[in-house]
Amino acid sequence: MMKYGLPAYTNKTINTGSDAYMHDCIVIGGGIAGLQAAIQLGRYQRNVLVADSNQGRSNLCRCYHNILGWPDGISGETLRETGRIQAEELGIEFKDVHVQKVNKEPGGFRIITAQDQFKAKSVLFATGVVDRLPNLDKLLPCLGISMYICPDCDGYEVLNKPVIVIGSGDAGANMAIALTYWTDEVILINHEIEEIDDQLLKELSDKQVTIHQSPIHSLEVDGDRLKGVLLSNGLNIKAEHGFAALGGNEVRSELAADLGVELYKNKHILVDQRTKMTNIENVFAAGDVVAHSEQVTIAMGDGMQAAIWIHKKLKQATERSM
Ligand SMILES: Cc1cc2nc3c(=O)[nH]c(=O)nc-3n(C[C@H](O)[C@H](O)[C@H](O)COP(=O)(O)OP(=O)(O)OC[C@H]3O[C@@H](n4cnc5c(N)ncnc54)[C@H](O)[C@@H]3O)c2cc1C
Repeated sequence: MMKYGLPAYTNKTINTGSDAYMHDCIVIGGGIAGLQAAIQLGRYQRNVLVADSNQGRSNLCRCYHNILGWPDGISGETLRETGRIQAEELGIEFKDVHVQKVNKEPGGFRIITAQDQFKAKSVLFATGVVDRLPNLDKLLPCLGISMYICPDCDGYEVLNKPVIVIGSGDAGANMAIALTYWTDEVILINHEIEEIDDQLLKELSDKQVTIHQSPIHSLEVDGDRLKGVLLSNGLNIKAEHGFAALGGNEVRSELAADLGVELYKNKHILVDQRTKMTNIENVFAAGDVVAHSEQVTIAMGDGMQAAIWIHKKLKQATERSM
């Protein structure tokens, strides 16, 4: 792990795990949004616990290409490691746990994991989204390097280059159509052989997308570089870039929903645009779990904005009680 050269704050008493201890905030999810919020809350010298199960999109992406200040790209792992160190040096505590339940109780919230229970005056959900990825060997090292999931993030990487789409029905078709903005050489593989809507089929044909109706047998890869795919029907297709679009991604909002947080139809959490607070007082949400473009920089902005308002609310509560 890299060491970050920031001074550590020591003027706080951290006593987590005890049933009596009330944190200012518990951040559920230590990905991009959760880490940015934790760093800002640390700078307010708030007593914050980040509970994280370490299984986010930011664990998977080996290179983000569209972030200010990183023209050669930066990995999710590096952002997570440096972010965690930066937060820890501001006094933020981390627990590598999966939160199973959040209950509202007088004065705050109870956060329940398999091992422990924690209490907090406020909660930030930064739990993200899980992509449904094809179950193919050698895929993971390529994510963000030569295999992508989002055309807004990585369409530019395939500018005027051949690209395969590992698709399933309409989700794959829509991805293939989106990529024709960047390149004329789009090959759609309907990996799960799901039906494609007639209108989409027409658009694919108009845009001269080649379609293969066959599962992929295996990926041909050199380290983190895609070289091609072998289809179950024996056909070998060469391409150095690919997108996965199976649809059915999971928005991790069930914990919040169980607490009574309002969701959109697509299961993303509804927040006040200015404060990032949900319909429940002192419950906030940030990052991909909130409805927006699902980008690192937006997750950071969300986390920052939520932290500012979490602090304001805590400050108001202290002032009222004086
Ligand atoms: C292959 C790939 C390529 C990408 N490329 C780009 C790109 O080029 N540019 C870009 O801007 N974005 C890109 N993204 C998207 C980017 O990674 C996300 O927008 C970003 O990670 C969102 O941050 P987040 O904090 O909301 O969620 P995440 O980073 O997913 O973090 C959520 C965290 O919450 C934790 N968690 C969830 N539930 C619980 C629970 N119950 N208890 C404890 N912890 C929990 C998870 O373990 C995880 O650590 C890419 C994503 C992938 C997968």
